[in-house]
Amino acid sequence: MTAPRTPSLVTTPEELRAALADGGRVGLVPTMGYLHEGHARLIERARAESDTVVVSVFVNPRQFGPREDLSRYPRDLTRDLGVAGAAGADLLFHPGVEVMYPPGYATNVTVGGVSEPLEGSSRPGHFDGVATVVLKLLGLVGPDRAYFGEKDWQQLAVVRRMVRDLNVPAQIVGVPTVREASGLALSSRNSYLTPEGQERAAVLSRALRAVQAAASRGERDTARLRQAGLDVLAGEPEVSLDYLTVVGGDMAERERVENDPMTRVLVAARMFGVRLIDNLPLWPDLPRQAGGEGT
Ligand code: AMP
Repeated sequence: MTAPRTPSLVTTPEELRAALADGGRVGLVPTMGYLHEGHARLIERARAESDTVVVSVFVNPRQFGPREDLSRYPRDLTRDLGVAGAAGADLLFHPGVEVMYPPGYATNVTVGGVSEPLEGSSRPGHFDGVATVVLKLLGLVGPDRAYFGEKDWQQLAVVRRMVRDLNVPAQIVGVPTVREASGLALSSRNSYLTPEGQERAAVLSRALRAVQAAASRGERDTARLRQAGLDVLAGEPEVSLDYLTVVGGDMAERERVENDPMTRVLVAARMFGVRLIDNLPLWPDLPRQAGGEGT
């Protein structure tokens, strides 16, 4: 058990630098706030592996499209301080938009390859926003390790690619997805759904499990694997599917899947007006190497 603490709230790079002097091994958990049990799991992992744990809470405007939910994204800093403290955070870094992107700000980070399909094509500019803010946070905090959820599998791949390509001296650690008992992956955006909506949204994880089950029965044909998931989704009229796909570690689809720990089934769909994403490994029992460091 981690002793609950109240994290120090810091809002500027100067305060952050002062608070991190002699911080020992630093772990960073970047978030957009409205913290839940999934975020807590990342913070606990950082606590176990670091001397100082920094949680950033920043709703990054650059990763939202013009018609996305930036203005209504849920926020509750008081609650976030409680959740972060209970999970073992020492510092909560909560910069304003003008601190992160002051007048004259002109730099954008674009990662190629893994950022292009799936979320990259459905949400143009999204991963530029993510890569830019993550690189800034890594620069501001200078952590030994930074923790990201497998819930956002493609984001994890984009961050790993960027860190490798730009020689950022931080280890990226992936943490498995935390779910409701129904199977629904925890997400701050679940708060847009009614309790009934949340129950019905669990169909996405059931579809992923159906694809996993087909793979464990020996199915290797990607189209048939997809169909196993589509059959499940067909039973829920609220699902407006964006994609359901099986990809390798490079985020590319192949006709036949490889028996590889990086092969993953990913889904994105709109339900009740809320865009939800989820994913599972196709073979959960294969030892993970996850592109592979840090998981
Ligand atoms: P967000 O606040 O949604 O940007 O998420 C911040 C971090 O928490 C990201 O690395 C997410 O992948 C991770 N995360 C979000 N939901 C979950 C979850 N259900 N389980 C594990 N990690 C999660």
